[in-house]
Amino acid sequence: MQAAVFNGPRDIGIANVPDRHIVEPTDAVVRVVLACVCGSDLWYYRGQSPHAAGDLIGHEFIGVVEQTGPAVQTLTEGDFVVAPFAFSCGVCPNCEAGFQTACLHGGFFGGDGLGGQAEKVRVPLAEGTLVKVPGTNHSDEVLRSLLTLSDVMGTGHHAIVSASAKPGDTVVVVGDGAVGLCAVLAAKRLGAGRIIALSRNPARQAVAREFGATDIVPGRGDEAIEAVLELTGGIGADATAECVGSNDSVATALRIARAGSMVGFVGVPHDVELSIGRLFGRNVGIKGGAAPVRAYIPALMDDVLAGYINPGRVFDFETNLNGVAEAFAAMDERRAIKSLLRVSSIA
Ligand SMILES: [Zn+2]
Ligand SMILES: [Zn+2]
Repeated sequence: MQAAVFNGPRDIGIANVPDRHIVEPTDAVVRVVLACVCGSDLWYYRGQSPHAAGDLIGHEFIGVVEQTGPAVQTLTEGDFVVAPFAFSCGVCPNCEAGFQTACLHGGFFGGDGLGGQAEKVRVPLAEGTLVKVPGTNHSDEVLRSLLTLSDVMGTGHHAIVSASAKPGDTVVVVGDGAVGLCAVLAAKRLGAGRIIALSRNPARQAVAREFGATDIVPGRGDEAIEAVLELTGGIGADATAECVGSNDSVATALRIARAGSMVGFVGVPHDVELSIGRLFGRNVGIKGGAAPVRAYIPALMDDVLAGYINPGRVFDFETNLNGVAEAFAAMDERRAIKSLLRVSSIA
């Protein structure tokens, strides 16, 4: 089968690798229909985090179950499924608590031969991991939105949940990547009264407005903090979503948050220094981490299938598996918000 591989920084290729097959009795093999590139893939692409040369890549995909191991009862060949970016057992205490990214038996797609940017993926712990999509003949628009449930929509939602946003709140979203835009949509879905998005990019501002942003602040750092304080009568946000992971964006989020409020953080932290003294004076809290998107897929899927949310709008570049290098380059150069890979058709 064909799969995207990491050859080294800024060198993504396609390789012929052995077909995936069942290894553990709890495995399934999924034939990929749609996959995509994640902002977090850019860290190793740019050489800023390690990734084994020659290993498979990609952790966001939807597809059709092609084979199941003998211990898999709840899935059968032909089921159309969404895979979250982490696999999990579904029954350990951490999974039962809704934090499947901390599953005692789980792990992550995107390496160790478990790559989603490929024709097929071996999915460990398939029953706990995969979520079956009901119905048939879904539109392309719906398929694109289902793909976001693998990561970015669930992660944006996790930022808003972690920030303890309540209906009517003023929510500020720091970060205008696909996750930040999905956080805007999640805030709207949960009833935020006012949603302020930080973005200097016209294409991203347009998606933010479509997703429910009421105000756009086209600045960053001190400029953005001043603008948000001005918009909120000097008080700050009731709930703040940090969707970048840099030291500057975390610092901005903490200063935008009103006294006594929470910052939900989902940007993978890179060189972030957090001094607890910064939280003390204004009783600001920070909560978040690797989003347990598996916990959120069922409810978000209902809203996608009902046409109530359309997070697939974040895809503004598309190609097939052979175009994966260009899909990475488009995101790296910020020509694209998020790149979609068409791998096969459902039928
Ligand atoms: Zn991702
Ligand atoms: Zn578990």
